Amino acid sequence: MKEKLTLMIPGPTPVPQTVLQALGRHPIGHRSGEFQEIVLRTTEQLKWLHQTNSDVLTITGSGTAAMEAGIINTLSRGDRVLCGDNGKFGERWVKVAKAYGLDVKVIKANWGDPLDPEEFRKALQEDQNNNIRAVILTHSETSTGVINDLETISRYVQTNGTAITIADCVTSLGATNVPMDQWGLDVVASGSQKGYMMPPGLSFVAMSERAWEAQKRSDLPKFYLDLKSYQKTVQKNSNPFTPAVNLYFALEAALNKMQEEGLDAIFSRHDRHKKAAQAGMKAIGLPLYAAEGFGSPAITSVAPDIIDAEELRKVVKEKFDILLAGGQDHLKGKVFRIGHLGFVSDRDVLTAVAAIESTLQLLGINKNKTGEGLSAATAALQ
Ligand SMILES: *Cc1c(COP(=O)(O)O)cnc(C)c1O
Repeated sequence: MKEKLTLMIPGPTPVPQTVLQALGRHPIGHRSGEFQEIVLRTTEQLKWLHQTNSDVLTITGSGTAAMEAGIINTLSRGDRVLCGDNGKFGERWVKVAKAYGLDVKVIKANWGDPLDPEEFRKALQEDQNNNIRAVILTHSETSTGVINDLETISRYVQTNGTAITIADCVTSLGATNVPMDQWGLDVVASGSQKGYMMPPGLSFVAMSERAWEAQKRSDLPKFYLDLKSYQKTVQKNSNPFTPAVNLYFALEAALNKMQEEGLDAIFSRHDRHKKAAQAGMKAIGLPLYAAEGFGSPAITSVAPDIIDAEELRKVVKEKFDILLAGGQDHLKGKVFRIGHLGFVSDRDVLTAVAAIESTLQLLGINKNKTGEGLSAATAALQ
């Protein structure tokens, strides 16, 4: 049943009916008073979501636009940066930084493992002349379902040298605690199709005072993504260009929903869903891909050794109308990923676990484990 297809991929994520309905209005003028009111309200709500007093700017573009904006507005040609890379999105940071001619030192971890904060501390302490301008990393590495210890790494940055911290929080913001000011993050990038429970199309960059100081020196080329123009216009509750007006309607509706639920409730819901997905997979006998204790609150990566992950995904989709994500690059066929980010309820997680379990049964694999995954996931939800 095609219309019943449930997205359990880490973006785009499911969108609530109220948010869809908000989208369906006729557009309004982006210089109108009515639109300015929306910019005013959503800007305040975005600060609430980021737990910050700093500017949070909205860009029409996908999450990568926010990442690129973070780099080109704070850095200069030839600047030395440390980039964390333990998956596809870490790789993306390295690519963006190199595309702008930065001097990139990569700190790697194997896919499935978290970045080691000690390696960042050492590199920062060895940098006697404070040449490192930025430490750039992904908080929740979507490709592997690993959460990196952004809090500790950010603390090391603050206590060693003068670098700023630039973080991709695309699949952590709105899923787990990312208190920007408390952790001392300088640039936080996110995108609408993830924890925001919205369609793709908007992205967000939060900039600390220190990030704006860095912006004054920055000489990398920019025009559409020049955040100074977004800062100037947001102060007048406006936008430098024609924004995706209808997505702003959706943004306000989505942020209203998030405020109704409350940050703590949102975070604990994601935590419970993570635990249920992990417990369910383990009970079925499917090994988790992320290192123990470092599973992302938004994505559970599973590395089945008893079945091709693509075959399992195909059957889960055809028989049970649930779209799981596959493995990327060398993980294709080896890993599948359960997205539990954003507008996800207990029912969705239980159904996904049951569908995976039933699929194995249908294929004649794992026959003696029937029901154990669902039972473990149910217990973990309590
Ligand atoms: C989805 C995602 C992005 C942004 O990707 P876009 O396709 O540009 O929206 C960036 N980082 C992570 C970790 C993501 O999951």
